[in-house]
Amino acid sequence: MMQKIEHIGIAVKDAEKSIALFNLLLNQEPYKKEVVESESVQTIFYQNGPNKIELLQGLSEDSAISKFIAKKGEGIHHIAFAVEDIVAELKRLKEAGFQLIHETPKLGADNKLIAFVHPKDTNGVLIELCQER
Ligand code: ZN
Repeated sequence: MMQKIEHIGIAVKDAEKSIALFNLLLNQEPYKKEVVESESVQTIFYQNGPNKIELLQGLSEDSAISKFIAKKGEGIHHIAFAVEDIVAELKRLKEAGFQLIHETPKLGADNKLIAFVHPKDTNGVLIELCQER
């Protein structure tokens, strides 16, 4: 079951500039900064009530975030839903006809198991499932 929106991922060109901006906007500091080497991405997390904001900066030209920004510019990159059982949820979505980017969960930032659903089946919105480890 999709429990709640866990976080909204925002693609940014310059993490340091965006941290200054979001510190002002949210009137708080990020609680975590983490590099995900496998994705070549810098992540920055803010807590906002029960939800989070994840800033994402590509660390190389060929990272998915850099490609996203080259194509669409900065902005909302994905919406992540918290799930209790990511394997069961991936199976349910696959059976319902959604195209999965990851058939099996992988290790993501913020101590989560994650997997993405292709935006072509979700009105153009990249969907992330994440399960607390
Ligand atoms: Zn995310």
